[in-house]
Amino acid sequence: MERNRLERFPRPAQPVGSSKSARPVRADVERVAPHKHCSECGKEIGLKDEYSSKECEKAHKDRQAAKKRQLLLVYFGGVALFALAMLLLLSGGR
Ligand SMILES: [Zn+2]
Repeated sequence: MERNRLERFPRPAQPVGSSKSARPVRADVERVAPHKHCSECGKEIGLKDEYSSKECEKAHKDRQAAKKRQLLLVYFGGVALFALAMLLLLSGGR
């Protein structure tokens, strides 16, 4: 019993001095004042702003609109498919 405890390996000593390269940018990022990033290009902007420029705002909104249009298309496609299925069911069910 006693001997087993004594035979445990001691922890290997950690090399000291290499901690600088271990944590590169993280600390720097956390030190920066609160800010936001442009929704379009990811550039740093003020807290009150949404985009870094008018172009970014337009591009982002265009993309959102396109996405919405696509979603609507999928939605109506699904509804049309459903209606078609119901029609077939009702006409052939009897
Ligand atoms: Zn931007």
